Amino acid sequence: MKILDGKSLSELIKKEIQSEVASIVASGKKAPHLAAILVGTDGASETYVGSKVKTCGEIGFGSTLIRYDSSVTESELLEKIHEINSNPEIDGLIVQSPLPRHISFEKVTETIHPSKDVDGFHPVNSGRLMQGKPSFVAATPKGIITLLDRYGIETSGKKCVVIGRSNIVGMPMSILMARNSKPGNATVTICHSKTSDLKSYCLEADIIIAALGKPGFLKGDHVKEGAVVVDVGITRVADATKKSGFRLQGDIDFDEVAPKCSWITPVPGGVGPMTIVGLLQNTLMASKKEILF
Ligand code: NAD
Repeated sequence: MKILDGKSLSELIKKEIQSEVASIVASGKKAPHLAAILVGTDGASETYVGSKVKTCGEIGFGSTLIRYDSSVTESELLEKIHEINSNPEIDGLIVQSPLPRHISFEKVTETIHPSKDVDGFHPVNSGRLMQGKPSFVAATPKGIITLLDRYGIETSGKKCVVIGRSNIVGMPMSILMARNSKPGNATVTICHSKTSDLKSYCLEADIIIAALGKPGFLKGDHVKEGAVVVDVGITRVADATKKSGFRLQGDIDFDEVAPKCSWITPVPGGVGPMTIVGLLQNTLMASKKEILF
């Protein structure tokens, strides 16, 4: 069993982006700039946004963090998004989820201009992805594809099971694995909460990508010998031995599954750091106007 080490690969790719940013700036152009909106004080959201903003600074991107109290109105938030859409200094915009109940995630997503939608959640971007056209691809599936690519994992002709069908992970992941590309060209089965006999699909799979948010769900007897297993789950579970009082747990029972795999991602240090890389790559593409809308 070998580890798909997202942490060290992300460090390498961040260095590559950093050197590209240095040449952009040396040529007299402005550095890529990411804006992030955070509503409320959810601990996990604070951590995710904080780490995205910090990474921007490390690699030479500009960043702006806009905070709102959870009482902010939907129209105030949409107004801010319109303002950012027309600000030429800002290349990419993300709005951290979850949002308070009185704010529609859908409206927020659809208000961000597709050319600044570096999370890839706008229907224009997800629609283009489905049609194989240039688009911003959601950061987590994009990061996983980069991980498989850089480790030279063969996907063509393989059987792939994606567990989870969300718009931000499972669905785009399944399209990326099935599309006529490298990595891609896999035969994909999407499993979800209504799948009966999920185990039988998993046992057939050469590659399993688990994104369901149920800690330790996938056991050793779900996986065939030699499978490649990617764990997207990051659930905070109580752990009195940690200073924070919790630890991150993936959807895979690592101790049971790892001995059967050819390759596996750890949690933490697998998909999480690659997700940030996906976001940075999208922001760089946005600043270079690589995709025309
Ligand atoms: P979601 O709740 O939107 O979707 C979960 C999906 O899992 C649903 O489509 C559902 O049908 C499926 N599901 C639920 N229970 C199931 C079961 N028993 N069997 C089969 N399928 C089942 O979640 P999401 O936003 O797609 O995220 C999934 C997980 O990935 C979460 O743990 C989330 O925290 C994590 N995540 C991690 C990163 C990262 O950077 N590592 C990024 C995004 C999400």
